[in-house]
This record gives sequence, C-alpha cells and structure tokens, in this order.
Amino acid sequence: MSLDSIDRVAVLGAGNMGHGITEVTAMAGFDVTMRDIKDEFVEDGYEQIAWSLEKLEEKDRLNESADEILGRIETTTDLEAAVEDADLVVEAAPENLELKHDIFTDLETYCDEDTLLATNTSSLPISDIAEVVDTSERVLGLHFFNPPVKMDLVEVIYGEDTSDEAAEAGYEWVESIDKTPIYVRKDVRGFVVNTIVGPFGGEAAWMISEGESTVREADATMAHERGYPMGPFELADLTGIDVGYHVRKEAGDPVPPITEEKVEAEELGQKTGKGFYDYEDGDGADYGPDDAGDFDWLRIEARMINRAAFLVGDGVATPEEVDTGVQLGLGFPEGICRRADKIGLDTVLEKLETMQAETGADRFGPHPYLVELVEEGKTGTEAGEGFYEYDSDDGELDSYHDLNVTLEDEVLQIELDRPSRMNALSQGLLEELDDLLSTVDTDEVRCVTIEGAGDRAFSAGADITSFSSAEPTDLMDVTPAFETVNDFERPVLAKIDGFCLGGGLELALACDLRIATERSSFGAPEIDLGLIPGGGGTQRLTRILGETRAKELVFRGNHIDADRAQEWGLINRAVDRDAFEETIDEWVDDLASGPPIGLKVAKKVMNEGQDASIDAAIAMESQGFGLLSSTDDVMEGAMAFAEDREPEFEGS
Ligand code: NAD
Repeated sequence: MSLDSIDRVAVLGAGNMGHGITEVTAMAGFDVTMRDIKDEFVEDGYEQIAWSLEKLEEKDRLNESADEILGRIETTTDLEAAVEDADLVVEAAPENLELKHDIFTDLETYCDEDTLLATNTSSLPISDIAEVVDTSERVLGLHFFNPPVKMDLVEVIYGEDTSDEAAEAGYEWVESIDKTPIYVRKDVRGFVVNTIVGPFGGEAAWMISEGESTVREADATMAHERGYPMGPFELADLTGIDVGYHVRKEAGDPVPPITEEKVEAEELGQKTGKGFYDYEDGDGADYGPDDAGDFDWLRIEARMINRAAFLVGDGVATPEEVDTGVQLGLGFPEGICRRADKIGLDTVLEKLETMQAETGADRFGPHPYLVELVEEGKTGTEAGEGFYEYDSDDGELDSYHDLNVTLEDEVLQIELDRPSRMNALSQGLLEELDDLLSTVDTDEVRCVTIEGAGDRAFSAGADITSFSSAEPTDLMDVTPAFETVNDFERPVLAKIDGFCLGGGLELALACDLRIATERSSFGAPEIDLGLIPGGGGTQRLTRILGETRAKELVFRGNHIDADRAQEWGLINRAVDRDAFEETIDEWVDDLASGPPIGLKVAKKVMNEGQDASIDAAIAMESQGFGLLSSTDDVMEGAMAFAEDREPEFEGS
C-alpha cells in the first residue's frame, strides 16, 4: 500500500464531520464518494458542502471553481458502490461501537484488500473498532477536527495492530490534502489533543467546586492572562457540559461536583440556553480582563503538562507533535511543552506534589517522565533542556518556535508560524524575529522574504492576549523587531496573501517591498480597541502614503483591498494568486543577484534620508556613492556591462 495508490476516497457519513471531510478531500483534487444511510442525509450533506464552497469562492480562497470541486464528489446510499473502488475509506458515522463494527465488517467484504480503512472516531479505541477486521493492520484513526474545512489538524492514530505502512500512507494522504498530521503512536483514550485538554476544564471545575475561585475569574485569567482562546467554562458551555461529563464517566474518573450539578439541572451550556453562563436571560460569557484575579492557573497548567509528560514519556507523541496538536487543535497560544519549559519543570513538579499532598487526589500524581526530567536537571529553558533541547547558539536557524526559517541560495525565508492565530504577532514571535535578524550572518544572506503560514493571513495583527498582562510601561518599550527588520542590511520583501492587519501591517511596512495577492486586505484597526498602532505604523504609514491616506487608515480603522493598496502605494504589486509565487521568484531573483553592498547603501541612504533635510540627505547619498565606487562589485558591474553579460556580484 502506498500513497500513489490513493486516488479514490470514500467517506461514510454525511453528517457534521463526514461532509466536511468530503469537502476538503475534493478540494485537494481527489475523487470522493460520500455515503449515508438515507437520501435526505446525503442531500443535506451535499448542500452544506455546496454552501461552504460558495462562501470560500466568494472569499477567493479556492484555486478552482466551486463547481469543479463539486464535480469530483459523488453521493450514494449504497455502501458497496461507495467503497468498491476506493483506495481509502474514512468512516464518520455516529460514535457507537456496534454500528462501527457493522460498518468495518462490511468494509472487509466490499473493499479491495489493500484499501486503507480509517475511522474518524473521537473517543472509541481504534483497536476496538478494528477487532472485527481480519486484516486489522490496515485500520487506523484519522481524527479530523470540527469543522474540517477550517481546522488544520488531523491526528493519525495507531491501533494495536496498525502497520507502519498504513499509518505512513494515512499521514502522507493527510499532508496531500493540505492538512497537518501528527502521529498518535499508541491507542490512548483522548489521543493527543483531548488528553491535554481534559484538565483544562476538569481542574477548573474542581477549583470552582471547592470554592477556590469563581467561574468569571477562572475564565478571565485563562483567556486574558494566559492567552487561551477562551476560558474553560465558556469552552464547556460551547461544547456541552454533558460531553465532558460523559467522557469522565466512561473513563471511570471522578466528576467534579459542579459538573454533576449542571448535568442534573440540565443546564448543559449554550445548547440549553444556560450552563455556567446564562445565554437566555443573561449576556452569556461576559467576563472581561478586569475579572481576572489571583486565580491559580498553575494548578491547571501543571496538570496539562503532566499529561504531556505522559504522552511523551510513554512514546505516544513527541513534544513537537503534542505542541502542534494543541496549537492547531485547540488554538492554544503556544505549545504546552514549550510553555512547560518556560515555567520550569521543577516548578510544575512541585505544584503537582503540593496539590497531591494537600488533596490526596490521584490526578496530581506526577508522571515518572516528569520526575525523571527534573532529576536529570532538565528543568526547561533556563537549564538549556526540558521537553526540548535549547541551542545555546542563538544564530542556529532551526531553533525558532514561532518562525519557520530556511536559508537557501542566500535567500533567508521567514514564515510567521502561528497559523491557528492567523499569525498574530506574539511577544515571543517578535523576540524571535529580532533575534534571528540580529544574529544571522549577513554575509550568507542576499535577500529576506517574510510570509505567513497557513492560507488565511500574512498576519492578522498583534496577539493582544500576550500583551494584556503587561504593565503599560512595558508596552511603551515596544519590541525592537520592527526596527530590526527596517534596518536589516539586506532587502526585505513581504509576501502577503490574506489578512495584513494591525501589527501585521506594521511588520509589512517595516519591510522594503511588499507584494500581495489580489485577495489580500489591509488595515490598521487598533483605533477600534481605543489604541493606536504601536510598531511604527503611524509614522511609516504617513511616510509611505502621505498624511491624507495614512489618517484615513488609522482614524477609521477600516480595511482596504489589494487594488486600493496598490493604487495608494502601500504595496508594490497586487497579483493574481496563481501568479503570486512566480512574481515573488522574479523579484527575489533580482534582489538576490544584485550587488549586496550597493543594495545595502541604497537602503540605508533612502531610509535615513527621509528624516534628514534634503541637503543632509544628498550629502549622505554622495558619501554612499563615493564609498561604492571603490568596491569590486562596481568593477564587476562595469566589466559585465562592457562584455554584455550578467554581472556576478561578490559583495566586496
Ligand atoms: P453526525 O451525527 O453529525 O453524522 C453522522 C452521520 O452518519 C449521520 O448523517 C448518519 O445518518 C450517518 N450514518 C449512520 N449510519 C451510517 C452508516 N452505516 N454508514 C454511513 N453513514 C451512517 O456525527 P458527526 O459529528 O459527524 O460524528 C461522526 C464521527 O466523527 C463520530 O465518530 C465522532 O465521534 C467523530 N468526530 C466528531 C467530531 C465533532 O466535533 N462532531 C469531531 C471529530 C470526530
């Protein structure tokens, strides 16, 4: 079985997950058959796909027409017809083991023997589902997140019998549909993501039950001070309090009294109008930053970190996989292992031991792997090693966490890597960017490009959550990253595809050149938060656009599209998405083959000249000109011109 053999896919179930999985499969170019048990269910699912594709088309997020994609989708209620030619089957039927047994028994009858058989189950062990299949080595979990079209992550789960070949084929297929797979190497309850998120809501509920805190204080602290996309109780109301309740019951874990009370009162969250918050007579989850207090967040994070230690220590997943999982699957602001290393694993261990001694509860029992790391002195970032090893050589290109950095053919490519947050600029990311450009050897670099990861944004702004716990005086000390980009000795090109807003716009403005796809949009929405741009935006916008247009952007806080941005001179070019990479390559080629010293001097005198009097600026230019005339590059330029060939500049 190999990836090459996957051409046709069958998805079983046209419900929430089934129709979404069908949609992303067809978007990636595969022929796919979606099967449900009744015509009306199939039709419903198909209509939802058509609706969603239409929306994506309107937002220019498709590479082809919605109709072309729909043309690759067939629907049926006939199981045999759906799967007989399929190379991969993804089962997304209701969460019921007996039903899944029936389905997998039929699959073994109707499918070819080298068809890969996957289940999207969230909570049933893959091994239990596979037990009815004789060839259980080809059964694996492919756990998509809801909704598949938006959520990037897919957990690729090994059952007891799953072969490496099957898991690898599943992993490669997930990559081929433009999703991010992580391996879950053992069939553990909750896989990776739900294993970590358990204590997020669970421990918070224990703390409320014990009168340690209030719902609002807990949510406000976790969301506004610790950076989670929402607080644990808001999350519970959203997913349904009964869902967490049943998961705990099934696992045989004790249920926090407050959860028990809510379920008994049938106050299950948004779906019943009332949960931890009141959605009918009240304002819903209406906590704000001021509600945050002395909430003991470490108690929750220590338990999540302990779970991470279990996953890593027992070989279920690597720290990188755990961190990718929680960021893409849960929107955590940073990986839990990364955060653990920053907090200090000794601090985490001490917290668990203290809580265990105080409460006698088993759930605080530290995992042996955590104990082992601490005993070996691997306590985290400060010690140079924890879950991760930290390179003492800051210039190492691969040691960044929020940036993907490659240096190829003297082009330094930087990808802002927080796709789950639309590449919002956190303090950590900006520090890394500053560090990278301050330490990289400029002799090795001819040109820099900066782009955003994922397919939605260059960067949608500053990550306000990572700043909200800072004191105003800290914030006035704005990160030097924007200036470092602006002052970098080589040309820096912003590759903009999607949102370029707030801090993201300021970063793009600090670059020398900006090329954007036509679907991109630009804006400085800070004013809507009562703020102003704080990364040089007010000044650079005025210099680049002139006062009239700059004030329009800053005062009104509205977005403008790429055409207008080009007309205003905010970007150099707005190009069709199909021509984007090609255009970038041409520009990068010009910049990377240009004379390094000449470009460096041009950048310096043009940047600095803007703020000098015209006389001083011209004097600066003359000085630069004089300096260049004695370089080898100028000799080479003149010779190449005379010999009618391309110059080869050495930067000397
Ligand atoms: P759903 O109820 O929305 O959809 C299930 C669909 O399967 C229904 O349309 C049903 O008619 C159909 N069905 C029933 N028997 C079938 C059969 N024999 N063959 C084909 N289709 C059949 O459920 P869902 O939320 O899409 O969940 C499906 C699976 O995905 C479950 O295993 C669930 O645990 C898992 N999952 C759900 C989520 C989520 O957030 N909803 C996330 C990840 C995984």
